[in-house]
Amino acid sequence: MEEKQTASQGCGKTLKTAEILAVGTELLLGHTVNTDAAVVAQELNALGISVLYSSVVGDNPQRLKQALLQAFGRSDLVVTTGGLGPTPDDLTKEIAAECTGRKLVSHPESVQRIREYFRGRECGENQFRQALLPEGAQVFPNHRGTAPGCAWENGQGGLVLILPGPPGELVPMLQQEVIPFLKGKTGGVIASRMVHVFGMGEGAVAQRLGELTQGENPTVATYAKENEMFVRITARGETLSQAQDLVLPAEKQVCEILGDVVYTVNQDGSSESCLEETVVSLLQKAEKTLSAAESCTGGLLAKRLTDIPGASQILEMSFVTYANRAKEELLGVPRELLDTFGAVSPEVARAMAEGVRKVSGSFLGVGITGIAGPDGGTPEKPVGLVYIGLCDGERTWVLKLNPPGQAASRAKCRGRASSAALDMIRRRLTGLPQPGAICFSAQA
Ligand code: ATP
Ligand code: MG
Repeated sequence: MEEKQTASQGCGKTLKTAEILAVGTELLLGHTVNTDAAVVAQELNALGISVLYSSVVGDNPQRLKQALLQAFGRSDLVVTTGGLGPTPDDLTKEIAAECTGRKLVSHPESVQRIREYFRGRECGENQFRQALLPEGAQVFPNHRGTAPGCAWENGQGGLVLILPGPPGELVPMLQQEVIPFLKGKTGGVIASRMVHVFGMGEGAVAQRLGELTQGENPTVATYAKENEMFVRITARGETLSQAQDLVLPAEKQVCEILGDVVYTVNQDGSSESCLEETVVSLLQKAEKTLSAAESCTGGLLAKRLTDIPGASQILEMSFVTYANRAKEELLGVPRELLDTFGAVSPEVARAMAEGVRKVSGSFLGVGITGIAGPDGGTPEKPVGLVYIGLCDGERTWVLKLNPPGQAASRAKCRGRASSAALDMIRRRLTGLPQPGAICFSAQA
């Protein structure tokens, strides 16, 4: 269905800079976390549009007007989130139309969509307020709700784009409708690659990349997420191949500088793929299998591996050996080791890895033991201390993870330990060194 109201929705200006204005008093009160702004920022940056400001304003007409006018004066594209619904506190569209001198007119397709949405249910008259849209706006249908989004010229040479607040409505609208619309307005084509890094912090990565992160085309930017790091390289060109020609040398440079902490590169600039995906794929390619014995991670390593389709080809068994008795009876960890060194020790991590390998007959055996906290730590064995064993039948590596600087949650400790184990497996399968790990001859 053609969703354009008139031909005048376009903005001739190339969109280089953007600003996000999240609307909603609940955001100011801290009742709702502003995830919309994060999603919008990521998508705009990926398009090569630089987000220069991001702010929050309550459901207050005067302050919203002021915020919009200020934003129009300094950014090519102003994206608002929230306040498009049917209730009296939903004011974004009305105020934005007023600020840009647009009348609100009924949009027949949106009226129809609202009717269909409520088919067989009672639909208040106020619902149809959502189909009153600024004259000449480009309309983005809402496939998950009733309030459409729309974009129109802001009267100062830029574009205003209004989106619904609920993330379940905003995210699909953004990805399916808005991004394709904006793509033609960024003054060229964008190519982007995401370099995935494990085992080096954001500060260290940024420092090594040095001047590379200062460039404008391509841009090289670092992001940290949970236990991983990403470097996104984005370039703009007149054609896709021109943009790719700018991205590829920068990607090569980034990979050379960072070395073996890079575990994969995503084509489309997204951070979708993950360490477990790389490990499953490496094991599949090598036609090798893995079994695990987990204590403090409680099965998280197995969970992460089995999240990946095809894990059945590579994961044979996984034990959650929490109690010493389980370590002894299921893995054959000698009682003396547990008594002498304690369950959280390099000796026991090694015996768990070797034991599970033996019991399962898998190519690789992994053992993880540690103190996830918040209790149970001692000065000698603090919360966050983890030992990981990896055995390939010939050698066993044992890596010690020291507690992170700041107090880490149980979930963080476990996530970090499972990621470190995955990275050890990756390193073994690609013949890379195991930095920081002690290597033993495997005990038969
Ligand atoms: P509705 O039709 O539901 O009223 P709306 O477009 O008017 O949608 P709001 O009323 O501002 O949006 O917010 C509705 C809900 O959407 C909020 O209660 C909140 O749960 C969620 N929401 C709004 N803004 C954001 C945001 N910036 N980040 C995350 N969630 C948000
Ligand atoms: Mg609302």
